[in-house]
Amino acid sequence: MSALGACVNPSPGVAARAFLSRPHLLFIGGRFVASATGRTFATVDPSTGERLAQVAHAGPEDVEAAVAAARTALEGAWGALPAAERGRLITRLADLVERNAEELAELESLDVGKPIAKTRALDVPAAAAQFRYFGGWPTKIEGETIPVAVPDTLCYTRKEPVGVCAQIVPWNFPLLMAAWKLGAALAAGCTVVLKPAEQTPLTTLRLAELIAEAGFPEGTVNVLTGDGPTGAALVDHPGIDKIAFTGSTAVGREIGAKAGARLKRVTLELGGKSPNIVLPDADIEAAISGAAEGIFFNTGQACNAASRLYVHRDVFDDVVEGVLARARRARVGPALDPATEYGPLVSAEQYRRVRGYLLDGVSEGAVLRAGEVPAADPGGGYFVRPALFTNVTPTMRICREEIFGPVLVAAPFETVDEVVRLANDTEYGLAAGVWTRSLSAAHGLAARLKAGSVYLNSWAPGDPASPFGGLKASGVGREMGRAGLDAYLELKTVWTSIAP
Ligand code: NAD
Repeated sequence: MSALGACVNPSPGVAARAFLSRPHLLFIGGRFVASATGRTFATVDPSTGERLAQVAHAGPEDVEAAVAAARTALEGAWGALPAAERGRLITRLADLVERNAEELAELESLDVGKPIAKTRALDVPAAAAQFRYFGGWPTKIEGETIPVAVPDTLCYTRKEPVGVCAQIVPWNFPLLMAAWKLGAALAAGCTVVLKPAEQTPLTTLRLAELIAEAGFPEGTVNVLTGDGPTGAALVDHPGIDKIAFTGSTAVGREIGAKAGARLKRVTLELGGKSPNIVLPDADIEAAISGAAEGIFFNTGQACNAASRLYVHRDVFDDVVEGVLARARRARVGPALDPATEYGPLVSAEQYRRVRGYLLDGVSEGAVLRAGEVPAADPGGGYFVRPALFTNVTPTMRICREEIFGPVLVAAPFETVDEVVRLANDTEYGLAAGVWTRSLSAAHGLAARLKAGSVYLNSWAPGDPASPFGGLKASGVGREMGRAGLDAYLELKTVWTSIAP
């Protein structure tokens, strides 16, 4: 039995039901095929714990075939396309995502447990926006002429695609992460073997159908559904030129080490334990709302979740009361119910993990002011209510480790120097927030906080044109924007004698 009692998820529409009833196969060389071994795995609706679909499980032979198809496309039809045509295909994919928005939103909600209101308003439009943004780039990728001192010499640079890319994405934003990664790679002229997370393969498979419909040359994008070993086989394949990974820091370290040993290009977007700082002159209502949504959004399953709240002692009680009120009235429910604000966690494994941290916090002496330790057995639906701990100390596990659930720790501070020390006292460096009416305090803190993104009087707006990525153990490189595109380009310098 779930925390909400026996949970019923409303039915999706006709298009999503039709997709669910089709076979869920690998996408290799422009064709949908069963895995070489015939193996499959189940994907589950986290709102109910029931099986949604059976999906092909890619093994080493499928990795071989997908990498070969991507290489053929790179050296053939895709590689030969003019930049403008590349851009037109990516833009057409944006159109198709928009045209199939309701179906994609329903599939994403079913597979991940995200509230339908959010997948309609955010995940799907944001994915389309990535393709639309990157669709404009191919015709703007330019080299430079270099004013070298060597006489009678023309020296210029070319930007060329890195090559065949392995892209491995997590389960918290499956469609959006696929769009981040594919948009940049395709704009640069690369070809791709994309592996969605085993918990959430459905929208990526629907996206593969849309890629085929858009008319990309076969093999430009290949999709391999499977688990960690599938991802590892892809990383290990000598035919892969670049690896782009989003997920846990543990797996990121492993992939980084392998990429280093083979000198493959790599970008890693990993975990976080991001601080959100409220100064005493802040707009308190805005700060409360930013603090609550910053952590509870997506049921806390966001790499840039605002999981540590530091509030000046003068306003600590007011801010904490405000967040508590929001946590207590949060509408937690099944993903396809339009009234749901926060859905379940993605899997029974995540449910047990987050429950473990809640137990840990209580046993370490922190005070659980909102939320509860859920039942050991999730039964039907992996629901965990928004939780807030106070009376925390910086050494507690709940203050140091990424929980990836709706669990906030709040602590007071007195001086700016003290809060900078607390905020930066973490192995991570993905995001940080500051709430204040003082421009100098805001920008002063933005300079001192060790994070890849700093949000001033907001939390995580995001845009395809703005780079995103982490410092320290939060990752290597950037995605989105010009920096995200550059991660898929190699710079070549060409020297020419123009002596008469
Ligand atoms: P994970 O890192 O194990 O999985 C992410 C992706 O990597 C999946 O597609 C998975 O199949 C693949 N993968 C797993 N092992 C691999 C390997 N050895 N080589 C190549 N690919 C591999 O993440 P998880 O176990 O699903 O989640 C665990 C924790 O990771 C979460 O609780 C959270 O803390 C963190 N996480 C972070 C993000 C993020 O956005 N930064 C996303 C998901 C999970």
